Amino acid sequence: MSGRSLAMSSHEMHTLPVKQVVFHHDGLKSFVFPRAFDAEPGQFVMLWIPGVDEKPFSVSDVTDGKIEITAKAVGPFSRALMNCKPGDRLGLRGPFGRGFRPRGRGLVVGGGMGIAPLRYLVHRLEQDRASFRIVLGARTAEEMMFVGDFSRLGAQFATDDGTLGRQCLVTSLAERLCEEERFDLIYGCGPEPMLVALKKLADRAGIDCQLSLERHMKCGIGICGSCCVDGSGICICREGPVLDRAELDLVADFGLPHRDATGARKDAPAMA
Ligand SMILES: Cc1cc2nc3c(=O)[nH]c(=O)nc-3n(C[C@H](O)[C@H](O)[C@H](O)COP(=O)(O)OP(=O)(O)OC[C@H]3O[C@@H](n4cnc5c(N)ncnc54)[C@H](O)[C@@H]3O)c2cc1C
Repeated sequence: MSGRSLAMSSHEMHTLPVKQVVFHHDGLKSFVFPRAFDAEPGQFVMLWIPGVDEKPFSVSDVTDGKIEITAKAVGPFSRALMNCKPGDRLGLRGPFGRGFRPRGRGLVVGGGMGIAPLRYLVHRLEQDRASFRIVLGARTAEEMMFVGDFSRLGAQFATDDGTLGRQCLVTSLAERLCEEERFDLIYGCGPEPMLVALKKLADRAGIDCQLSLERHMKCGIGICGSCCVDGSGICICREGPVLDRAELDLVADFGLPHRDATGARKDAPAMA
């Protein structure tokens, strides 16, 4: 049964045992929890490690009464997560935010950790018999997640070192496909410079895009304001993380330095 029919309320914390840990490579793992959340692709959950912290993570799949997230070790929280084993109990709240709203023929473009939520998106597109193409980029073949899953769906790959697919930026693959084929919508998740390039591509091609943004999040439900973007005040945890082309036009700090955990912009001069 798909997760779509199994609604869970979002605001309460569910303390759940880790059911399975999937090792992708050093510092990159998926964590499966035994509960279906009624999450749309592109939505996220807040994951709590008792005694450590709570952070947002995109849903990388929902199947048969299970929810999965995929994490990369970059700092204190994600490193603590890498030490979690089956049976350890963690807290999950969610799903939160607005995910992808599929329509028409899609071009799915992912980079780095941004590939994780796109896996759930393409599973849904496949279930719905939608027409779509996939292009994915990572630094190396080793860092490319879910290669088997995406290859089955005809994905094209780009790596910085040429160890998988073409040696180029994933946006070059996306541009070429847009010249050769007609799409109604570009779905994107990945580093912000990649998203900026995709927005320009969508503008040039005159088609819509839905791009997933990351901003510093604390509450996940639009109260604390830490993920509000300059210009529009859009709260990324509530109105995003996925924004469409018209909404992105309102984001003054799209592609620019944005606010950190303290609320200060990363490029702002320090107070004397
Ligand atoms: C909507 C959303 C979805 C995300 N999905 C994933 C995912 O699927 N997989 C994954 O590995 N990571 C994901 N992240 C990032 C994740 O929440 C953590 O930021 C990351 O694990 C680093 O945390 P850390 O404490 O280990 O490292 P730190 O050293 O504390 O942080 C490293 C960097 O992560 C970012 N960061 C830290 N805390 C937060 C926070 N509370 N909110 C937003 N950014 C933060 C900052 O850019 C920081 O410089 C997502 C973030 C957002 C906003």
